[in-house]
Amino acid sequence: MTTGSNPEPPRFNQFASDNYAGICPEAWRAMDDANHGFEPSYGDDAWTERACTSIRKVFETDCQVFFVFNGTAANSLALASLCRSYHSVICHELAHVETDECGAPEFFSNGTKILHIPGPGGKLDLSATEQAILRRTDIHYPKPRVLSLTQSTELGTVYTPDEIGAAGILARRYGLRVHMDGARFANAVVASGVSPATLTWKAGVDVICLGGAKNGMAIGEAVVFFNRELADEFEYRCKQAGQLASKMRFISAPWIGMLEGGTWLRNAAHANRLARILADELEQIPGVRLMSPCQANAVFTEMSARTTAALHAAGWHFYSFIGTGGARFMCSWQTSEDDVRKLVAAVRAAAR
Ligand SMILES: *Cc1c(COP(=O)(O)O)cnc(C)c1O
Repeated sequence: MTTGSNPEPPRFNQFASDNYAGICPEAWRAMDDANHGFEPSYGDDAWTERACTSIRKVFETDCQVFFVFNGTAANSLALASLCRSYHSVICHELAHVETDECGAPEFFSNGTKILHIPGPGGKLDLSATEQAILRRTDIHYPKPRVLSLTQSTELGTVYTPDEIGAAGILARRYGLRVHMDGARFANAVVASGVSPATLTWKAGVDVICLGGAKNGMAIGEAVVFFNRELADEFEYRCKQAGQLASKMRFISAPWIGMLEGGTWLRNAAHANRLARILADELEQIPGVRLMSPCQANAVFTEMSARTTAALHAAGWHFYSFIGTGGARFMCSWQTSEDDVRKLVAAVRAAAR
């Protein structure tokens, strides 16, 4: 597990995504720890058992846990388990399940329709959500069955426990279930300062897709069912979708490394802190405006096309088509204060 005599690659100037980062030392070490001798395959091993226990401790409840390879599979299979083919899922118009999963939720649920609605700051607007639920109740319309929330959101904002609770109450009133896309759930936990339980099942969330990769792992997301009935036969969905790892211990063990010593929250706190610094600095630059409040590890700015082009030409990698346009700068566990300083200087120069 060494890089031998390979030369250090040049530092890559990027704020493109938190998945540009490497594997954090704690996740890497846990994978190494699991790499001794033989272990049963397909999740019947001690590492997977311990990782499930860690997740139950984090959420303070006896949830059902499944490990899959990525977020698209986690979301799609979770949604498929909450719906029948004639149902619909209500989500924000910028939700990953709508804009970034290439129709996988519809595919894995055999036709469940995604209904997307607007809302400020990447959050579901609950009165618009209620209208979407009530718009039609006849047999010709796909029956709303799930509310899907992303926490933290695609625009780097964070739902408060009260907002999630209100969504949960609305969902219950109309017999809907609540799915949470938690690709950046750690960032939301740190930002809101309340327990993972308060942000999920205590507020009415039935299932969360808990992100590992963007938090510092190599691979993997956990599908966590608080409503255990909904997890019935979920293992068959995973297998059929090619999401049952045979050497499961190598995708489950890193969760132990992330969760048991609190690394998942430290990584998120670091990323959030640097995003805050970046937002505060960028806001000072004439011609640069924050597009949505920086509450987690993303900074969305509006700046001129000339400034964006100059930054790209100077070798900076970041997305300018995600969310509502503008430039998105993501911080990760691996982003350094020096990276932030360099980007700020580059934006200042480009905006001149
Ligand atoms: C990154 C991300 C995912 C997971 O994407 P994969 O590339 O499929 O792992 C899910 N939801 C959100 C909001 C994300 O940003």
